[in-house]
Formats: sequence, structure tokens, C-alpha cells
Amino acid sequence: MHIEPELIHEIQQKNDILDVVSQYVKLEKRGRNYIGLCPFHDEKTPSFSVSVEKQICHCFGCKKGGNVFQFIEQIEAISFIEAVKILGERAGIEVKTDDDTPQADNEQNKMIAMHEAMAHYYNYVLKAIEQAEPALKYLYSRGFTDEQIAREKIGYSPNVSTFTRDYLKNKGYDEALAYDAGLLSRNEETISYFDRFRNRIMFPIKDFRGKVIGFSARSIDGSEPKYLNSPETLIFQKRNVLYHIDVARKPIRNQDEVILLEGFMDVLKLNEAGILNAIATMGTALSREHILQLKKLASNITLMYDGDRAGIEATLKIGKQLNQEGMNVFVVPMKKGYDPDEMITELGTDKFLSYFNHNKLTYVSFYMRHYLDEIKNNDLAYEKHLNNVIEDAKLMNSEHLQKKVLHEITELFNVDFDSLKFKVQKDNRIQARMPTFESEVLSRPMLAERTVLKYFMNDRMLFMQFKDQITEEHFSVKVHQMIYKALSGYYKIEETFMLSKFSSHVPHECHETCLKIDAMLVNHEPSIEEVNDYLYVFQQEPKEIEQLQSLKAQLSDAVSTENHEKRAQLMREIINLQRQKKQ
Ligand SMILES: [Zn+2]
Repeated sequence: MHIEPELIHEIQQKNDILDVVSQYVKLEKRGRNYIGLCPFHDEKTPSFSVSVEKQICHCFGCKKGGNVFQFIEQIEAISFIEAVKILGERAGIEVKTDDDTPQADNEQNKMIAMHEAMAHYYNYVLKAIEQAEPALKYLYSRGFTDEQIAREKIGYSPNVSTFTRDYLKNKGYDEALAYDAGLLSRNEETISYFDRFRNRIMFPIKDFRGKVIGFSARSIDGSEPKYLNSPETLIFQKRNVLYHIDVARKPIRNQDEVILLEGFMDVLKLNEAGILNAIATMGTALSREHILQLKKLASNITLMYDGDRAGIEATLKIGKQLNQEGMNVFVVPMKKGYDPDEMITELGTDKFLSYFNHNKLTYVSFYMRHYLDEIKNNDLAYEKHLNNVIEDAKLMNSEHLQKKVLHEITELFNVDFDSLKFKVQKDNRIQARMPTFESEVLSRPMLAERTVLKYFMNDRMLFMQFKDQITEEHFSVKVHQMIYKALSGYYKIEETFMLSKFSSHVPHECHETCLKIDAMLVNHEPSIEEVNDYLYVFQQEPKEIEQLQSLKAQLSDAVSTENHEKRAQLMREIINLQRQKKQ
């Protein structure tokens, strides 16, 4: 497998690290860099830093990051070649590799390709065959437009047990893999395959790149279940799926607000009403993975769940969870018994939007108002809910909203504002600190090794001058050895040093050291002597120190055994060695 270095370079140049990382991480400008919550590990204070100048990113906590390719490799858990392809596609550059045949594709890619092909075909069938008419009629009756049907690739799976199977087979896909991908079912006795989805409206579910990874299929003849989803597969895992994230990501970032809904139909409805920053989980459960994703997308989250018992319970539970995670949590309550979809149908778009914009409470306010009746004549409930709201208020991230909530608590629970404020604010929150390198105390030879590496990074010519006198083994630690070796390889093809390019040449464990070396301040035009001095410090000095220690040990032996001749000889050797060293 080979991709031309020029092509890699072009793709790297057309994918600004800030743009790419911003698709996954909410970043804020701090000084010369951008920082945000690390997408690779769970954290409350940001340690993930992006340098536009150097075109690299780095987590000071878990040490992940690197250049734009390495970031994509890590976050998507894919190979370098795949990362180059993804970023190539993003920049409109086609990347062809030697083994670019369908056989070489991994299972995951094949599963996605099958879903893409089926989504396309189901969508075509919806308007092409008579049998699909009830499906189309249903969609129109629910307010779907032709435009939306085309855009979302909504389709129809005919009432035939081999429609999907035969289509995929004709396209050269393996039945067993289509079964693993959740598109086919299997008769375990005969080990024969047949369609999982029959006579259903097919709503594609996409990943963050907009690739179809599953379906939610609605029955139109009243058969159960009403919605049949794809099963858990290699590519479709409910705990990771956020419906419509591919479309909503940008509006979410622009508005710094994500609207979380219970059902994907609500998302589509809200979209038609002009609210684009809406997403949904597949089911009401919010996983740890979801929370991590949400936190990275925006600081504000608005819950808009169904106005039934289950929806309200989910709102209270998830609201509490997200509040604990430091997000500003809001709730737009639905009319009793209504979901957002039905509210839009009932009120019409304009009235709904007005309702949406005038009924956004903090989660804590929502909680209090929900239990208002219960606390009126029930002191036990009063005590319990007061404690709960105080705990929730303590964790609120926004000072302004916290203050507003405290006033509301004062009023609704009839408590003293100042003592309440004292109680809530006494746990001073730990100030978010800027991520930086911990100051490191380096030994003399270690510092010398890094200084030499830095000289070589600054100046290819200097490196060329010294490369024959120095081998990896001259460096004392593995990381420095690897960096030196990588420099030799790098300078064979590159004229100037760029950290973002060099990153691809060194193993991951070297990245942080590379960053540290890159950040060192050294003389920009060192003389040959200066370089030699540093080389001496780590090449010769340790040997001499060892030699000296050995002589001194022998000397003390000679003294204790009263070997005068030996003693005199050793003294001379020591003096010579020390004299040499001083020069
Ligand atoms: Zn990290």
C-alpha cells in the first residue's frame, strides 16, 4: 500500500487541524491555542489543545493527538490509509491505493456500503412501485414533503422476503455479512437468509459522516412492532448513535446548544419547522458515550421529551445526569400527552416556535415546578425535594442561572435567600486550569540530548553535517533514539522541518517529547563547537564519569591493602582524566 507523499502533503494542507478537530470537539480560544475537553478520555476540565500555527493537537492528560491524520486515525479507530482517504474526501481529493478492490475493504466498510446501497434502493422503490402507495400516503399525511423524503432518503421495503437479499447478492455482497449487518434474518434450521424488513417505511440512520449504518422501519399495516430498528451490529450501536448528528453538528456548534429529543420522528419534524440543532438517541437511555459526545458538542442542552409519564421521568433523570456533568440543562415541557411532533401538528409551525422560545426552563426550575403540588401539603416531600434542588443548584455551571434558580427556590420553598446562597456557594468550585506541560527537571545529559535534537529540527544542513558521527545508540533513552532515527528518515524526503509532518514519522509515544523539544528555546544558529559541546555532554561525559568512579574504587582498594605502587599509578590516572575533562 502506497500513497504519494505529495498527495499526503496536499491533503494535509487542505485540512486545517482546527476545522477537523472542531467537528468532534468544542474548542475555545486561549492565547495562541484552542482548548477543549479531550475526545479521548473522560474529563471535566479541558486538557486538549490545538495549535493552528503548528497544525497539531495534543491531550495533556492522556497524551493522545498528533497531526490531522493521527487525530482521525485515533478518533475513528482506523488505519493511516483510511484516515488519508477520509480527509482526502473532505478536501475533494480522490485517494486511490493499490489494493482498492471491494475484497480489500474491511467488514465495517462493506456493511456501510450495503446500507448505503439499500437506502438508495428503498428510496427509489417508494415512488416506483404501486405497493408502496400506502407508505407514501402515510408520509404525506404526516407532513413529509418530497424534498425531505429525498434528502433523508426515506424509503420503502416491499412485502417480499427476498427483496433485500437478492439485491445485495446481485451486487456481490455476502449473505452472511448482510445478516451480521442486520439487513437480513436467518432461518436457523435451514441456515437460509431472508429479509428482516418487509412492508415497512425505511428511515435511514446515519453516523456523524452521514453514512447509513442502520434503519428504523415503521410498519404500515398495523403489524408489531410499530418501529423495528436495526439490531446491534459492528456499525450500529445504540449507545453511540445520535440520530441526525451529521446534519445537526454544525448548527449545534454555531448556537452552542443541542436539543435532545426522544424520537427520530420528532427530529425530522423539528427540522421542517426550522430547528436544525436537534438530535435524538435511539430509545430514552442515555449512555456514557452519549454524554461524552454531547459535552463535546455544546455547553447548553435542551431536553424536549414527550409529555407523558415516561417522558417526564426520563427528563428528570437525564436532566440531573447532564447537570452533574457541568452542562447548562434546559427543558421545554410538552403539553400533557403530546410529543413534539404532535405539538407541531396541533399548533402549526409559527405557534410552536413561539412556544419553544418562550418555555425554556433550567432543569432545576422544571424539577421544582413539577413537584410544586406535592410539596404544598406534604412536609416529607418538601424536605426531600428541597434537599434535591439544593444539591442540583450547587452543581450548576452558570453563575447567572444559579442565582436565578436560588431566587426561585427561596420563593417556592419559602426559605431565606442568604442562608441558601451560603449553603450552595460554599463548595467553591475548582478553577479550571490551563493545560500545560508539567515543568520537568532534566538531567544534564538528557537536556543535552534534547538540545541537539532541537538544533537538528531547526536546521537540516546541520543535521546532514553531523549525521555520520552520530548513531541512535548515542542517545541514552529510547524516545530520543526513536526521534533521531525518525529525523534521518524525514530529512531524506523533506527539506524543512514541520512538526505536523514529522509527527507521521515517529511512533505515538514520542509525540509529547517532540512537542517539548519543539517548544525549547535554543540558539538559532549554533556554531559547530556548540553542537560538539552538547554531544560531548551525552556521548563522552557519562563514560568518563563511569571511568572516574571505577578508578576511585580501585584507589580505595589500593589504600586499604597498602599497595603503594598501585596507589601512585591510580592517582596519576585520576589526575589525567580530570585534567582532560576540564579542557
Ligand atoms: Zn485526553
